[in-house]
Amino acid sequence: MNRRPDPAPIPFIDLQAQRRRLGGAIDAAVARVLTHCQFVMGPEVAKLESELAAFCGARHAISCASGTDALLLVLMAKGIGPGDAVFCPSFTFCATAEVVALVGATPVFVDVEAESFNLDPKGLAPAAATAKRLGLKPKAVTPVDLFGLPADHDAIAAAAKAENLFVLDDAAQGFGASYKNRKLGAIADACATSFFPAKPLGCFGDGGAIFTDDDKLAEVIKSIRVHGQGSDKYDNVRIGLTARLDTIQAAILSEKLKIFPEEIVARDRIAQRYAEGLGNIAITPTVPKGYTSVWAQYTIRLPKGRRDGLAAALKTEGIPTAIYYPIPLHRQQAYKHFPVGEGGVAVSDRLADEVISLPMHPYLDAPTQDRIIDAVRRALKG
Ligand SMILES: *Cc1c(COP(=O)(O)O)cnc(C)c1O
Repeated sequence: MNRRPDPAPIPFIDLQAQRRRLGGAIDAAVARVLTHCQFVMGPEVAKLESELAAFCGARHAISCASGTDALLLVLMAKGIGPGDAVFCPSFTFCATAEVVALVGATPVFVDVEAESFNLDPKGLAPAAATAKRLGLKPKAVTPVDLFGLPADHDAIAAAAKAENLFVLDDAAQGFGASYKNRKLGAIADACATSFFPAKPLGCFGDGGAIFTDDDKLAEVIKSIRVHGQGSDKYDNVRIGLTARLDTIQAAILSEKLKIFPEEIVARDRIAQRYAEGLGNIAITPTVPKGYTSVWAQYTIRLPKGRRDGLAAALKTEGIPTAIYYPIPLHRQQAYKHFPVGEGGVAVSDRLADEVISLPMHPYLDAPTQDRIIDAVRRALKG
């Protein structure tokens, strides 16, 4: 075969393409903020919050400074702290468990399902037993909608109810996806998302949001977001943070939210093309009936030992890949002293050796995607 690889490097996520599409509208939105100068809690913040709430069907949307702060604000508002156990998947980004440790509570790791990469509801009861045996009080569970696919929220809610757990959905990668005709944000007791630039709905820096239908919880979160303020900012009724979303980021997000539904459709079309091109050569992700994914990542699985060769072969053709996540949290230096629930985390360990993510963004055109599919097929056959 005398195939000459195209040397032009492909971006893993092409933020420039969206910038070209929306540039003028975003420049104008930023210019409006620069004109009125209300950089903190300007009018664009409340506007975005009502747009986000309407988009996902939650009663309250509360914007904040990052996805990590979104998770943290909810745990603080729920008063979760020392002696409490919060159940987290081990196969996730560290922030899911980091916030639990930050409030002084104990993350207890639960395994995930191999097909969905998401928290296995069957792991919750055994993990609660582990927590109780260790003298901890089971308080909450933080399912993650990993790579954009919703977790099995009904099964998790049922298992959580049996243990009287608060459910905080970490939808940092999944915001925009739906589960049985409900959008993430309108499902769990509270939901946190991130607007980090590489997330499906990203801003031009750090940002995040919390969704809940609980009026009291929303009020406490809003207070903690501004130093635990009471009737005004010089009345401090609790310990809080500086965790607001910048007005400029809110203005940018409002423009991006307008095209987000179209982008989700594009992501889904691209995911389907990957599945058609690669489904018989790797384990490609599947979306259960009644779910939609926003495809934060397109992550395939290969037998252990195969992915490094694939990554190297693709790299020579200018095609980037990424490993999300090479080390599950229960084996990370910062987290390995925290308990693992009875039942173990064998699937998390296995996935960490098998996964590899391919370029995925709404502006990946068909010829470029064919180049990727072709290169993956050649590498895996060779
Ligand atoms: C990105 C991410 C976060 C944290 O969001 P930041 O905005 O980066 O703080 C939390 N959980 C998961 C699963 C994430 O992917």
